Amino acid sequence: MRVRVAVNGYGTIGKRVALAVARQDDMELVGVVKKSVDASAFQAVALGLKLYTPTSEDSKLFEKAGLKVYGTLQDLLGKIDVIVDATPGGVGQQYKPLYEKFGVKQVYQGGERPEVAEASFNSLCNYKDVIGRKSVRVVSCNTTGLLRVICAIKRYVDVERVRAVIIRRAADPKEVKRGPINSIELDPPRAPSHHAKDVRTVLPDLDIVTYAVAVPTTLAHVHHVTLRLGKSVSREDIISILDSTPRIIIINSERTGITGTAGLIEVARDVRLRYDIPELVVFEDSILVDDREVMLFQVVHQESIVVPENIDAIRAISGMEVDPLKSIEKTDLSLGLTRKLW
Ligand code: NAD
Repeated sequence: MRVRVAVNGYGTIGKRVALAVARQDDMELVGVVKKSVDASAFQAVALGLKLYTPTSEDSKLFEKAGLKVYGTLQDLLGKIDVIVDATPGGVGQQYKPLYEKFGVKQVYQGGERPEVAEASFNSLCNYKDVIGRKSVRVVSCNTTGLLRVICAIKRYVDVERVRAVIIRRAADPKEVKRGPINSIELDPPRAPSHHAKDVRTVLPDLDIVTYAVAVPTTLAHVHHVTLRLGKSVSREDIISILDSTPRIIIINSERTGITGTAGLIEVARDVRLRYDIPELVVFEDSILVDDREVMLFQVVHQESIVVPENIDAIRAISGMEVDPLKSIEKTDLSLGLTRKLW
């Protein structure tokens, strides 16, 4: 039987998760909840998705714009097993009592406080811990990127300590009012940044410190990560570990000419839907290994990296698949994530 899923909040993350759910043969996308009438509401209808609104008051605006509404969020909650909440940070917490009332399982996003859910989630790090839970929170894009590289290496060698500098995109492409537009802003000025704390919601014992700056770009985040491992490794070991891990792409700058986010996104424009890169991209040429210390640059496409994690989270809490690698493989196959851009 397919698990019945709905998405509340059809924005940057919600629209991507909705389409990803629709591609799963073990899930059914019952509907999406839109609050405001905008271009993506028309696009959702054009894609054949069923629109619901938070309240019947909201639906009047949709009907005025000629958009068919199938009911309210409450109507939808009566028809589903899992709700993916992709509303703006903090709004999911407000909806939680309603979700609980209807007895649906919940997947929240990284903008919510960790307490919103029983556990924070990353597919590679703690899939088994959340099987059958009532609610999970998929951690933010930056945290997902950090956890991908840490847990990839942790599968083979103990990771004792992580230090990372996050060079954060100022805004998503559609966010015209956010900045900075001409500054490199310490984010926040007082170290450390909150990302380390967020990583520890999944790996509570990890020694990790993060700094962050926000820069005037919308394409992607870049991280400089330094990991101290439990034993000495070679550069070849690290490349081979990363190369054999799902959802990680290794790019060689010398061979491809790609030296940053613009080059990467340009390739994705040619080969990917919406130029999404849900994989973590590691620049091979940036990998330095000195005994137990590994340093590298990695790229996080903020709009899409959490999408496959949301699909695995649905599968884990529904108890449909107990093997993380099998869920990851199924999700990645359905989304065309082949760990290669060409
Ligand atoms: P967004 O603003 O693009 O989308 C949110 C959507 O929710 C909008 O369509 C908005 O109209 C709708 N909405 C607002 N109030 C609502 C309500 N009361 N009921 C139903 N819908 C409502 O936001 P986003 O970037 O998709 O972020 C969603 C969540 O995902 C946040 O927790 C955010 O922190 C997290 N996240 C965002 C990114 C990113 O880079 N954009 C990456 C990872 C995680």
